[in-house]
Amino acid sequence: MPIATVNPATGEKVATYDALDGPGVERKLAAAAAAFESFRLLPLYERARLLHSAADLLDHDRPEIARVMTVEMGKPVTQARAEAAKCAKAMRWYAERGDALLSDEIPDPADVEDSGGVTARVVFRPLGVVLAVMPWNFPLWQVVRFAAPALMAGNVGLLKHASNVPQTALYLEDLFRRAGYPEGCFQTLLIGSGAVEGVLRDPRVAAATLTGSEPAGRAVAAVAGDEIKKTVLELGGSDPFVVMPSSDVERAARVAVTARTQNNGQSCIAAKRFIVHEDVYDEFADRFTQGMRALRVGDPLDEDTEVGPLATERGRTDLEELVDEAVESGATVMCGGRRPADLPHGWYYEPTVLADVTEAMRIHHEEAFGPVATLYRVADLDEAVALANDTPFGLSSNVWTLEEAEITRFTRDLAAGGVFFNGMTASHPAFPFGGVKRSGHGRELSAHGMHEFCNITTVWQG
Ligand code: NDP
Repeated sequence: MPIATVNPATGEKVATYDALDGPGVERKLAAAAAAFESFRLLPLYERARLLHSAADLLDHDRPEIARVMTVEMGKPVTQARAEAAKCAKAMRWYAERGDALLSDEIPDPADVEDSGGVTARVVFRPLGVVLAVMPWNFPLWQVVRFAAPALMAGNVGLLKHASNVPQTALYLEDLFRRAGYPEGCFQTLLIGSGAVEGVLRDPRVAAATLTGSEPAGRAVAAVAGDEIKKTVLELGGSDPFVVMPSSDVERAARVAVTARTQNNGQSCIAAKRFIVHEDVYDEFADRFTQGMRALRVGDPLDEDTEVGPLATERGRTDLEELVDEAVESGATVMCGGRRPADLPHGWYYEPTVLADVTEAMRIHHEEAFGPVATLYRVADLDEAVALANDTPFGLSSNVWTLEEAEITRFTRDLAAGGVFFNGMTASHPAFPFGGVKRSGHGRELSAHGMHEFCNITTVWQG
């Protein structure tokens, strides 16, 4: 893929960039390795000050960087501003808690009473240069949720961002530089995906984190495995959204619309499969379809737009193929199912609800990365759990019920990294984020995410 900004609302190429050549990559690797040697020694309060400073700058830049994101990948500009605000908040969250999250762990004397008065503690030291391979869908947030804890822990970062968001990628490098981070602490590598292997194999790179598709995750994890380097993988998801009879169906249907279409439907933790108990199926299906049909689709720079274009032409084609194949195999189109006739330019797709989906259809098993929902009717709790888990993915899940017994059952049995009851799945720095099965491994955010890129060291004194 060329490294370029192509406006998804018009299909027009706005800017192209040359990929970094070999010597350019080498310079950045050398700078990162050198930076780590001094940055790791910086006291925590200094690292916190730098992160606060980055947060302040980001808040100031919010309108401008939101516009850049919207032009690069098409999210509604109101959501782009919210993303930038969330990033600044997460930076402050880690800046304020770094001390606590990285403080030494002292074992309870009772747990080591057989070791004859030895003192021991666990300390969290940084790993080194971490390569972040990131996607375009939340071009700031995906990077910041890695960078804030990693930098706070004393690591340094090399960002290989998706090729269609180069301006956001360069903005991030500039942001950390302006915030006062020493040279080499956070750098953007404008490289294609073919150059990732060479960087990852470089002995100066300690670990990698990747958010994106399964093939990208597999490729990066294979190289990292060969090099015995740590990886965190946050891949796709096809999260279930289960609605049980005791729930507030009106509210569930309203949240379902946002959960499916936020970020133009291109979110790994978006609810994608709507599994509804037969007692409330008709009401939910009606309300949900009406809500999806009522969304304002249009220019993402317009303040009133709720759904913009898909980020890439390929992304729209992939989505169309999934829908068309399902419809040819017997799925019912409740709404949408096509490109909007009044938006001939750009990569728009109508918010779509498909019913009568069966396991013979690709969309039953694959991630629909756009505003397309599949609707299922189930007879009871067992069927709901089985269908929710009938996916290769296991990122998060969403359940609507007021029954305590059902909450216990879903919590025990849903194969996912998150179970959200009676509210939309969302990420927050306080809670670990990540999945099981083909959604990847490892966790981001919270102390768990921070410790993924720490050398968790036992210090033993006899
Ligand atoms: P990719 O997974 O291809 O891109 C994500 C990142 O990985 C980009 O930086 C990309 O670089 C890089 N990359 C891709 N292939 C390789 C490789 N073989 N080795 C090293 N790095 C690689 O996402 P797409 O944009 O192609 O989206 C395709 C699908 O992925 C979506 O339809 C969706 O299902 C899923 N996806 C999931 C996301 C999530 O949040 N979990 C986010 C984005 C996509 P480059 O851009 O240069 O190719």
